[in-house]
Amino acid sequence: MKALFAVLALILLHSVARADDRPKKDRAWAEKSAKHRRDVPTAGRRPAKLVNLYNTWTHEWIALEPTAKVPTEVTNRFLRDHYTSASIAMEPKLLGFVLAAATHFRSDTAMIVSGFRHPKFNLILRKKGHQVARDSHHTKGDAVDFYIPKVTTQALHAWAKDQKAGGLGLYLDSGFIHMDTGPIRFWSGE
Ligand SMILES: [Zn+2]
Repeated sequence: MKALFAVLALILLHSVARADDRPKKDRAWAEKSAKHRRDVPTAGRRPAKLVNLYNTWTHEWIALEPTAKVPTEVTNRFLRDHYTSASIAMEPKLLGFVLAAATHFRSDTAMIVSGFRHPKFNLILRKKGHQVARDSHHTKGDAVDFYIPKVTTQALHAWAKDQKAGGLGLYLDSGFIHMDTGPIRFWSGE
């Protein structure tokens, strides 16, 4: 019986000693990681809904969080000129317009019709008789043409008008709008 007590006491002492004997470094690390554990997002919280963007020329998709800051390389590459594959420093607000429109109309998809246009490609379009300005904002990287599936072009245009973001073109027959960050002005094409 005595011996049993002795063993129990030893085990008890041993575990107390273990708890206290942890090196300072280990204790600090344990405290730190416990703090980090509290920073982990609460399980069950819904992640932000992504918006899928499709570039109709390059046939590429990207999925973006509507409120997240899009890295410039992603924007520049996604909106590159499909004809020359050249990219340019795009106006960072452009994808913001598209994402805001998709969010407004509760759509998880938006279609990009045109982003950056290399001057060469712009010239080709002009020669083919397309309605393209010589000094188009697309060649400067600060314009985007887009539409939202299942949303009428008129409704999208009305939303864009409220944004007072810059140039706004309405292309009813083709079914898209043009937005750029140049001076506020309005026009319509086919
Ligand atoms: Zn345009």
